[in-house]
Amino acid sequence: MAKCSFCNRRAIFYSRVNGKFFCEKHFLKYFDRKVRRTIRKYHMFGKNETIVVAVSGGKDSLSLLHYLSKLSKRAPGWIIKGLLIDEGIAGYREHLIGKFIKTCNELDVEYKIVSFKEEFGYSLDEIVKKGKQLGLPYLPCTYCGVFRRYLLNKESREMGGTVLATAHNLDDVIQTFLMNILNNNWDRVARIGPVSGVITHVRFVRRVKPFFDILEKETTTYSILHSLYPDKNVECPYAPLSFRWYIRKFLNDLEMRNPGIKYSLLNSLVEVLSLLREKYRESDLKTCKICGEPSSQEVCRACMLRRELGIL
Ligand code: SF4
Ligand code: ZN
Repeated sequence: MAKCSFCNRRAIFYSRVNGKFFCEKHFLKYFDRKVRRTIRKYHMFGKNETIVVAVSGGKDSLSLLHYLSKLSKRAPGWIIKGLLIDEGIAGYREHLIGKFIKTCNELDVEYKIVSFKEEFGYSLDEIVKKGKQLGLPYLPCTYCGVFRRYLLNKESREMGGTVLATAHNLDDVIQTFLMNILNNNWDRVARIGPVSGVITHVRFVRRVKPFFDILEKETTTYSILHSLYPDKNVECPYAPLSFRWYIRKFLNDLEMRNPGIKYSLLNSLVEVLSLLREKYRESDLKTCKICGEPSSQEVCRACMLRRELGIL
């Protein structure tokens, strides 16, 4: 049985990058220090904030909700709220919603659940079907991502949020980075930093990623230690169709052979971000002439997709 590198207790986590073993107590200390350093480094929160946490019901977002709720006990000006978007994916999101409600109640956190069905009149499953019938070229994750981002901004603003915290971890961030490089989408790379750029649009809620420097296996460990790991490990049925699925596997294989390569890729992203942000300024956001939400074009992506689907 491996022992903790800092005390004599049983190790529950091993970091291949620094070669250290951690017991539960030292892992939680290490995790807390790392997240707080990220929050401080990127000036994520001020003294008085209503922080809306975007929760999918999965391990990462529940861990973020749990972590920030605990941290807020030391920050009297912070209010934490949970927001879950139910896309309407049969057999997938339902049991995660139960876990979300249970966690919010245990943490005494106010929450809101909004569904695609209520908001757009169609669930994601129905939208995907409609898109196929119309011969649209989009993958399910495209509809899902565009509509979810749209609702997260709109609903967090309506909940009084001054900042929207998402649980994107280091693995998510570098997957998105690599996907966008491979697609030559540098304007999108400019938007995947730990905090959204300087945005003056009155309807835009600032976004932050407190787990930006945290590996997925670290959020997994945190979630297990706090009984937040889902009882059933169900994957979204659309996930294997996505480009991200392959990139994720590729990066995990690469990390197995070269421990530390994920951090290296994250550092590459941080290096290029300041240059890209000069070139692709988010502060130039317009107002969608259909729905009035912030948009980089005359019409936002959500309205464009709804128009193509004939559901506007
Ligand atoms: Fe949505 Fe794709 Fe994630 Fe499924 S895998 S929840 S469709 S983004
Ligand atoms: Zn719009």
